[in-house]
Amino acid sequence: MLIHKAYKFRLYPSKEQETLIAKTIGCSRFVFNRFLGQWNDTYQKTGKGLTYSSCSAQLTQLKKEFVWLKEVDSIALQSSLKKLADSYTRFFKNQNKAPRFKSKKNQVQSYTTKETNHNIAIADNKIKLPKLGLVKFAKSREVEGRILNATVRRNPSGKFFVSILVETDVQPLKKTESSIGIDLGITDFAVLSDGRKIDNNKFTSKMEKKLKREQRKLSRRALQAKNKGIHLFDAQNYQKQKRKVARLHERVRNQRDDFLHKLSTDIIKNHDVICIEDLNTKGMLRNHKLAKSISDVSWSAFVSKLEYKAKWYGKTIVKISRWFPSSQICSECGHQEGKKSLEIRDWTCSICHKHHDRDINASQNILAEGVRTFYLA
Ligand SMILES: [Zn+2]
Repeated sequence: MLIHKAYKFRLYPSKEQETLIAKTIGCSRFVFNRFLGQWNDTYQKTGKGLTYSSCSAQLTQLKKEFVWLKEVDSIALQSSLKKLADSYTRFFKNQNKAPRFKSKKNQVQSYTTKETNHNIAIADNKIKLPKLGLVKFAKSREVEGRILNATVRRNPSGKFFVSILVETDVQPLKKTESSIGIDLGITDFAVLSDGRKIDNNKFTSKMEKKLKREQRKLSRRALQAKNKGIHLFDAQNYQKQKRKVARLHERVRNQRDDFLHKLSTDIIKNHDVICIEDLNTKGMLRNHKLAKSISDVSWSAFVSKLEYKAKWYGKTIVKISRWFPSSQICSECGHQEGKKSLEIRDWTCSICHKHHDRDINASQNILAEGVRTFYLA
């Protein structure tokens, strides 16, 4: 099956390359905002938008007026325009809100450029990008497939990254004749029907505590600046702390992402049918219980990873109805014991006297229910 896959790497541009990247981001934003303005005017007057091709023709004219636009990658400017046209199309289909003006102050600054005639290519530890030439990057793995486009980003902590989108052919994985149920744990991130518990702490607590501490420090710095009558933009201590917090955020995110990638790959490799719960009910329950819903975010990221990997590798995800009482049934004899409050971590079945761990029992019920509905369909 042909799929699209994205690779993300850290970029190490030279000083000149950094300047050119900043210029390209700026020019892309200029083009986007300029045509968005025109688009909005037209929409207000006629109820219709413009077209990509009419704007594209105007872009050529615009370059004569603003010659500095010629200094940067022309495909990036076209892509910016394309992005605007696409988001207007989606807006007309009621799929999203009207596009908004891009600001210099946005957290992440980026531009996208398309592959044509090998203008994007990888040579050893360098990537060739239009106008920039060869840029050093941290090549953590081989890029496999046909390169479609590249997005260059500068994040709030001042680091540069490139995302390379490729089209590649994936082969289904070997069938294992094994199925598994996964329960979204209350104390754990996930509990598997084979008895494994995936600890939340593995990828959160330590770093998050640190993040919280640094964030508090950031608020203090903001207050200090305010008391002294200094604008935040000029408050050096505040700005320094802000970058530190951004770096920590990034690390937390990367760690979590890495962890979820490994876990989902492991599950997809070893099982053919993966039974999971519908997010919503438990999500609400958790939100109620936990002020911070960081695990919920991770859970939905985890499910989406499972879903696309299952598609790639010829495996099946079965979602269990949100009304299925997975924690009320005895997985041994099928007796329904009734509702149990969240404090009850383990219980004994009154009929068969089997002692259950609450979450493992639930995941086994999810597996049984998933397998049942899968073969029924
Ligand atoms: Zn029982």
